[in-house]
Amino acid sequence: MTPLIFVTGGVVSSLGKGIAAASLASILEARGLKVTMMKLDPYINVDPGTMSPFQHGEVYVTDDGAETDLDLGHYERFVRTRLSRKNSVTTGRIYENVIRKERRGDYLGATVQVIPHITDEIRRCIDAATEGFDVALVEIGGTVGDIESLPFLEAIRQVRTERGASKALFMHLTLVPFIGAAGELKTKPTQHSVKELRSIGIQPDVLLCRSEQVIPDGERRKISLFTNVPERAVISVPDVDVLYKIPMGLHRQGLDEIVIDQLGLREKVGPADLHEWEDAVDATVHPDDAVTIAVVGKYVDHQDAYKSVGEALKHGGLRQRTKVTLKWLEAQDLEGSDMSALADVDGILVPGGFGDRGFEGKVLTSQYAREHGVPYFGICYGMQAAVVDYARHVAGLAGANSTENDRQTVHPVIGLITEWRTAAGEVEKRDEKSDLGGTMRLGLQEQRLKPGTLAHQLYGRDVVAERHRHRYEFNNRYRTQLEEAGLVISGKSMDDTLVEVVELPQQVHPWFLACQAHPEFLSTPREGHPLFIGFIAAARARKAARAG
Ligand code: GLN
Repeated sequence: MTPLIFVTGGVVSSLGKGIAAASLASILEARGLKVTMMKLDPYINVDPGTMSPFQHGEVYVTDDGAETDLDLGHYERFVRTRLSRKNSVTTGRIYENVIRKERRGDYLGATVQVIPHITDEIRRCIDAATEGFDVALVEIGGTVGDIESLPFLEAIRQVRTERGASKALFMHLTLVPFIGAAGELKTKPTQHSVKELRSIGIQPDVLLCRSEQVIPDGERRKISLFTNVPERAVISVPDVDVLYKIPMGLHRQGLDEIVIDQLGLREKVGPADLHEWEDAVDATVHPDDAVTIAVVGKYVDHQDAYKSVGEALKHGGLRQRTKVTLKWLEAQDLEGSDMSALADVDGILVPGGFGDRGFEGKVLTSQYAREHGVPYFGICYGMQAAVVDYARHVAGLAGANSTENDRQTVHPVIGLITEWRTAAGEVEKRDEKSDLGGTMRLGLQEQRLKPGTLAHQLYGRDVVAERHRHRYEFNNRYRTQLEEAGLVISGKSMDDTLVEVVELPQQVHPWFLACQAHPEFLSTPREGHPLFIGFIAAARARKAARAG
């Protein structure tokens, strides 16, 4: 039985529960434990794949192609364990499973109920995701008091009752606001939140108290008295300027020790080696250089929609002690503009996206970067925009487009596999197991890089694997034409049928690379990602050249 740490949240949302949980996980990992994490989300969508990035932020993709909550991105950036569809479970998924069993007759005629059938299914999913690890953190989305999260809370209450405190620990994250008019920190919301938890049978073992400033001992003592949580387990989590400081802050207050003691992990752990996080903080706080990168997208007022891209750019900077400032631009606003919004940046990134709004702005952005020698990094839709630009403006294919935006285009340089194969008169060969054609290409796939190209030089390998999430593809019928016009195809799927990376020769442009996959999902603050590191290096070179 894997010892579990259940993480709940109170008072308000957006306190950084996922990051706090991931930070604790990273310390436990640094102490030598095999750690995993999972997220239980109370909403009724079966997965976040269909949810608007405006509302829910980025859809994060795992190796096995699960479309998950962006918190899984935080988890994978903080711990080394690679996650899968098992690690992201929603109410919708739970009900889907239970209803399927009910239809199959698995419940042998019983009345199917929230308790025990839904709670049993929740517990089954927790066990499935956490077995085989030394310890697992299970985060419950939402805030205590929400109607939707009740079955999850009931399930974890049952786990604790059955397994005992040495196999299940409750950690609750709350807010301790500072009320300016009174000049005081207020502990009452925390008291109420714990009271709410206790009313459903959950007594927290640890409180993580979010606040603007460090919470003084007097206040921590007061919280301890009112909540029955030992004083040393009332942990202050103040706002930080650098995210990577959080693991150190928690470790300093002995949070890992509390967990290790309660869950009986003492003989498995060594001292915490947090130097990677210390290095990340140091490189962030004392940079040697700085660049500005324009990110041209569609949801720029909702930067959570591009969470992993923003993080990966920062990681790319971290690896070379460079502060990366992001200039978020709405693609649609560039349409019909003089493009001067891009004049002062050191590099341009066009991230993934869907639908026609702003697509022309992305094509213009790619054209601008290409013609002005600005480092350009296109990801997924940003790659497709680059191909459309190249087709229209260099290869002489006027009216070229993606069929996502113009079904009747004369030159469908980007299209659904089924469309371009049929148009080419090829018999459609579809691998039963793959999801190509009409549906999404999802998850980790290998690709082969062409020696001598920028992509090959950056990755330093012949074969790499990246995560995908898209429907449309580079149309093979245009490969020759675009190559003859100078576009370099530097990465292809292992069977040679799909274009994965395109670039411009370095004699023509200092750094122009675009890929169909989403490399941002594999970037971490500890290692960074070769494409992002290369991109930031190119942006630095451009800045230096312009200054000199
Ligand atoms: N809309 C494009 C497609 O489906 C790109 C998707 C993306 O950028 N993730 O192929």
